[in-house]
Amino acid sequence: MTKDHITLEIAVARPVFKTYTYSVPHPMLTLAQVGKRVLVPFGSQKITGYILKIEKQAENNKLKMILDVLDDMPLFTPAMLPFFRWIAQYYFHPIGEVIKTALPGGLTLYESTKAAITPIGEKALSQGLATPLENDILTLLKKESLGLSMLRKRLDKTISTALIHTLEEKKWLLITRKLRGQTARPKMERYVSPANCDFEKLKLSEPRKKIINILQKELELSVKQLKEKIHSAPSLIKSMQKDEQVIIFSKQVYRDPLGVPIQAAKPPHLTNEQQKVIGAITPSLAQGFCAFLLAGVTASGKTEIYLKLAEATIAKKRFVLVLVPEIALISQTARRFRARFGECIAVLHSGLSTGERFDQWLLMQQNQIKIVIGARSAIFAPLSNIGLIVVDEEHDTSYKQEGGLHYNARDIALVRAKQENATVVLGSATPSVQSYFNVQKGKLKLVTLSKRINQRQLPEITLVDLRRSRERGGPGRFISPVLHDAITQTLARGEQTLLFLNRRGFAGFPVCGVCGETLRCKYCDISLTFHRQINGYKCHYCGFSCATNTSCQTCGSSKIKLLGMGTEKVESAVSKLFPTARVARLDKDTTTQKGTLVKILKKIKNQKIDIIVGTQMIAKGHDFSNITLVGIICADLSLSMPDFRAGERTFQVLAQVAGRSGRGDSPGQVILQTYAPQHFSIQAAKAQDFKLFYKQEIGFRQKLNYPPFTRMVQLKISGPDRKKTAGQAIQLGELCTYLQTSRSEFKNDIIIMGPLEAPITKIANQYRWQILLKSKQIATLHLFIHRILYGKSSITPNRQVNIKVDVDPYQLM
Ligand code: ADP
Ligand code: ZN
Ligand code: ZN
Repeated sequence: MTKDHITLEIAVARPVFKTYTYSVPHPMLTLAQVGKRVLVPFGSQKITGYILKIEKQAENNKLKMILDVLDDMPLFTPAMLPFFRWIAQYYFHPIGEVIKTALPGGLTLYESTKAAITPIGEKALSQGLATPLENDILTLLKKESLGLSMLRKRLDKTISTALIHTLEEKKWLLITRKLRGQTARPKMERYVSPANCDFEKLKLSEPRKKIINILQKELELSVKQLKEKIHSAPSLIKSMQKDEQVIIFSKQVYRDPLGVPIQAAKPPHLTNEQQKVIGAITPSLAQGFCAFLLAGVTASGKTEIYLKLAEATIAKKRFVLVLVPEIALISQTARRFRARFGECIAVLHSGLSTGERFDQWLLMQQNQIKIVIGARSAIFAPLSNIGLIVVDEEHDTSYKQEGGLHYNARDIALVRAKQENATVVLGSATPSVQSYFNVQKGKLKLVTLSKRINQRQLPEITLVDLRRSRERGGPGRFISPVLHDAITQTLARGEQTLLFLNRRGFAGFPVCGVCGETLRCKYCDISLTFHRQINGYKCHYCGFSCATNTSCQTCGSSKIKLLGMGTEKVESAVSKLFPTARVARLDKDTTTQKGTLVKILKKIKNQKIDIIVGTQMIAKGHDFSNITLVGIICADLSLSMPDFRAGERTFQVLAQVAGRSGRGDSPGQVILQTYAPQHFSIQAAKAQDFKLFYKQEIGFRQKLNYPPFTRMVQLKISGPDRKKTAGQAIQLGELCTYLQTSRSEFKNDIIIMGPLEAPITKIANQYRWQILLKSKQIATLHLFIHRILYGKSSITPNRQVNIKVDVDPYQLM
């Protein structure tokens, strides 16, 4: 008779596509749980795996045993498994690596366990009841208590966690466990509240009376806040505590990145438009999967919609996930959610320290969190029972992860929502062509906010034709008279100006004054950018930098002209033109240090800055009420990119940056400088009308057979050897052509573009080639790629050449 036997389906953290079955030694049976990590034998190695499934099977002696269960608590919920499997299949990525990506990097969650011998253990030891290994452990622990890793080291033997559990169950050992891996601890603060007594009857001194009055109104207040109101409060409350007039206690507080206390905010009265949107979405919160596109002009109160929907979701005892595209925006959004919901909010992004992230993960696991706010990777938050997923600024390309697991968080948000029967709201003032197309196809329901809050007008946009200022030299070349006048007036009114240029550095186009060659990166096929801040040249692709006295690589001349502009150049010009203005720059270079970004944002908010020069970092989502002038230094930088989304990106960033103007009580204006005033992307941005843009763009996409009319997969071929990389690319291209002609379903349905050298032929010493595959059906593409990767006819693998699959690619450069 065969016995039923417990086996585990395990995904290993290795680039292999299948999962493996292992069996479990008896003592570990109760520990094995879906979502925990295990240590497994794999070939000749021991590696980490993740438990995907616990199954009953007939006894099978051939199976290998897991060596250990590594976690006390699962790291992901069983409901997330279909999600991981879907991602692995759709993006052609090994499932174990999908899970590794999903678990936050740097979450070095480990348990520090201290073992001590008990009196029962000592008795067992003296009576000789222990096995030899147990004997060694007990003997060692009799001398001193030890952490498990130290115990293993001292004994120089493998001691499984299961054995420790057995000893613990026998009560021979006392195990104390602590979760480690966090560098930040919860922050505690002293709070004070009034005691429960009849203050009317007490004869209080004036200062004490004042304190009691405040406390009765606030109910509780941190000692710090109280001190701000009454300077002598800290010593006063000490004696008041002795007299049992107040209670002092400590309370966990959340560090707020902006460092400003968050005051509870009452929800505003919704506008008619907002009410309509809420009315359209709310019923679906009780109905399972439903997806909406919220198209709302800038400052139309989209965030208020998210807040209301979150409230309704939480009332149904379900949880909320809010994705925002940029770390800089998380703190702003999180503040608004906290002001409404208090402290049941977790924040997830790459700017958190390991410890902070660990805290957040832990809280989510314990179901203490109702709302998670985060960047792209927060789509993997281990929230169970998600009722609502919001993707704010859904058009933003930073939802697309490049490198490693190439995924698009906006797209997989829809997948996760479907699996969890949740509602999705994709919000934007400039919806992506893809999403608006999905509205036309009936895949998304459209809800609209067409007006700004409080009858504020959208800013007026003036176009300035830069072709006319070509002749001018000096700073005037990129600050036109119109813009110059507008800045002067804005400064005079005490309002703030935002100058936008989507290129950092001082000069992006250093050219040899003798032979005319551009200065290029040693490792990339791209020109260097001069940075004043470091007084040298930098490559924006690989990080290479070199000194300012670098000479021409072609003729050796040291006469280099610094053509092209960047935010540094604008900053320096503006400082010269407006010497009394307080100017700050906000781009990747000024925000490399942790905390600097928030510092600059805070300064802007507190109006300590008159003119902000920035890249797209400042263009997105921010709500600064005193910015009334936005100057777009050069609108067409991104228009000429060899990428079919160039027009879309240009329109979006311009309309977004224009939307930063006039969000407060004073009206806003925008001055948009361009070499291509007639281009429809520019015209649509001027009208701040995404439908106008869409109508034109969708025609091009259809004519040229680009998404959303077709699906795309990109094969990226790269390697350090120019010839070998090209050879592999060509071979891969031949395989594609062979497959295409060999099967009728491919013949008619797959278009192969390439192999071609990538527009940037080399990055970081890796030569780059690409093949673009197009088809009407994603399923056909999937089948095709499957044949290429695992089919019978295959290419000769070359260790020096890397082939990556990018499904729904964004980076075509
Ligand atoms: P969006 O996300 O569409 O850019 P926000 O949600 O940031 O717009 O709203 C813009 C401003 O209007 C915010 O300061 C917000 O607090 C305020 N606001 C939103 N809804 C209302 C309302 N119904 N009444 C008054 N003010 C509102
Ligand atoms: Zn030269
Ligand atoms: Zn480089």
